[in-house]
Amino acid sequence: MRYRQLQLEFQMDEKYEHLAKNFTKEKFRQALIDCHADHINLMAKCHHGWSYFPTEVGGMHPNLDFDLLKEELEVAHELGLKAPVYVSCGLDERISQMHHDWHARTKDGEVQGGTLDKRYSHVLCINSDYFDFYLAHVEEICTKYDVDGLFADIISVRPCYCDNCRRGMAEMGLDVENESDVVAYAESVYVRCAKKLRETLDKCRPGLSLFLNGGHVRRGRGDLAKLNTHLELESLPTGKWGYDHFPLSASYARTLGMDVAGMTAMYHLSWSDVGGYKHPDAMRYEVFLSAACGAGSSIGCGMGGNGVIDNATCKLIGKAYAELEKAEPWLKDSKHLADVGVFGAEISQNYYGTSRTFSISQGGENKGDCDAGCVRMLLEGHYLFDSVDADSDLSKYKVIILPDEIRLDERLEKKFNDYVADGGKILASGRSGLCHGEDKFALDFGVEYAGAPKYPEDYILPDFEIRDFENAAFVMYAGGTRIKENGGEIMAKRLNPCFKNEWIHFGSQGHAGPDYNDAEPGIAKGNAGIYIGWNIFEEYATSGSTIAKRIVCHLLDELLGDNKTISTNLPAQGVVAVADQNDRRIVHLLYAAPVKRGNGVQVIEDVLPIYGTDVTLEVDKEISKVTLVPQGEDIPFEQIGNHINFLVPKFTCHQLVCVE
Ligand SMILES: [Zn+2]
Repeated sequence: MRYRQLQLEFQMDEKYEHLAKNFTKEKFRQALIDCHADHINLMAKCHHGWSYFPTEVGGMHPNLDFDLLKEELEVAHELGLKAPVYVSCGLDERISQMHHDWHARTKDGEVQGGTLDKRYSHVLCINSDYFDFYLAHVEEICTKYDVDGLFADIISVRPCYCDNCRRGMAEMGLDVENESDVVAYAESVYVRCAKKLRETLDKCRPGLSLFLNGGHVRRGRGDLAKLNTHLELESLPTGKWGYDHFPLSASYARTLGMDVAGMTAMYHLSWSDVGGYKHPDAMRYEVFLSAACGAGSSIGCGMGGNGVIDNATCKLIGKAYAELEKAEPWLKDSKHLADVGVFGAEISQNYYGTSRTFSISQGGENKGDCDAGCVRMLLEGHYLFDSVDADSDLSKYKVIILPDEIRLDERLEKKFNDYVADGGKILASGRSGLCHGEDKFALDFGVEYAGAPKYPEDYILPDFEIRDFENAAFVMYAGGTRIKENGGEIMAKRLNPCFKNEWIHFGSQGHAGPDYNDAEPGIAKGNAGIYIGWNIFEEYATSGSTIAKRIVCHLLDELLGDNKTISTNLPAQGVVAVADQNDRRIVHLLYAAPVKRGNGVQVIEDVLPIYGTDVTLEVDKEISKVTLVPQGEDIPFEQIGNHINFLVPKFTCHQLVCVE
């Protein structure tokens, strides 16, 4: 895997006269060296539809008077970089203006992406003759140039109502009025086009890489992901994705046995934020977060219209990548460990074919869904986790989490009951664990279903201590599922409020307070594991209640027992990961605190040193040394049986620890 990738943005309108006038191979060479890059996706055709090389198939940018792609490619290869080409697929404004019959259409017949009186962002349908043009263009590039692969952008399972798609659906007996039929057809189109692209690349040269980018790799659709040779997870934390999206996305992608890169950018905001620069510590944090999630990095950056990657960009990226380069010997070919598997809401939606979106980021900071709540709790609680789907081998996980809305059909019921029979434990909440299509538990938590909650908010009274908090009845905001005891151990009660706050009957406070005489079971433990009668993960995503997180962590610890691979006193905003590399074990420690600044933008600015990080790590052999890497400083440790304990005295932003 190449860990230090660049995604070079160069999208220029035809009216710009001085295009790439300042480009020289020498400047480009120095920029790649300064960035410490080992891979670059080079722009062959941009969203405007202009090619940056002399083309017989497409249209060369009218103000480009030399073969920019050829010169860039020569430099990249001289320096030993891999250099696939970026060829915009879904957006090609030049073609869009020429072929109105090639547009992707909404159900109302409008052009997807906006009306034609506005320039740009008009989406083309791959189920039209446009895709033949696209294939011919790709073939031209890959035949003419020694490129290493293709990054096809803006291509995903996109429901479309253009004439071709309507006709195609009719021929297949699909109902254009039925949304799931439209999605099924879009998926068949996508798979056909992905295969055609693969064939085209193979025809040009064997071994060319292929990635089809739609902004999000859908969790639970490993079959679609595997149409690519590797995965590039587009996830700009300060863009619309937020800092939750990438760890969640990577938790699934890394289980597919493919190379994965986390794609962020050096911009302050999102793509093409030219002149917007991220804080250097944010850049360092993001590339080491990628490494901690089992992925390489790809940093988006712009080459100005004059054809020069500016010095500030090179320095910003170079600082982060120089550190990553030094760390690479402890990253390459390592395999991430996980104690917990999460069968999340997006996995479930894809399993049942009810996925809400197809190409837009999910689990981002604004989504407020249970997957976002779950990933935050697991990261902040320092648990090692993967996302799993219906095809995953669950035997390696000690606990499976079913957050809030995971109903089980016969296949899933069997899968999870087999897992429990083999000694696995399940932590479920809300509607999770109920049968698909019936309000009856499919797993044995020692409870029965008892209907929806009586009040919009009610209270949880745990029978266990919650760290840092005195015992109390804590308000729960997100609703859930009522239960009756049926042989299980009750671990918390649900207290209903004294009355419902409404116009006729309101307390002066926001909530009426708990009625201790109106109690019923709230959390129960049975043979299958533990069931929580609230949508507690959604609760955390929307309200950020520390109580909700501490409850989940307590119950997860109860199920994991002494079986945790790692425990640490790292603060909540710290990230921990463990990977095995040959016969040594690598611990990743990270710390930065993104804060909200501006309108929902999360910024990393103050990276404070973390002192006295205590780590207890499970090991499977006698350990001879524990070393802070790459600096090569041995630190003392103590081994008792199959656990070692060590203290990292101080680190700033990130630290790797090699245990061998
Ligand atoms: Zn169409």
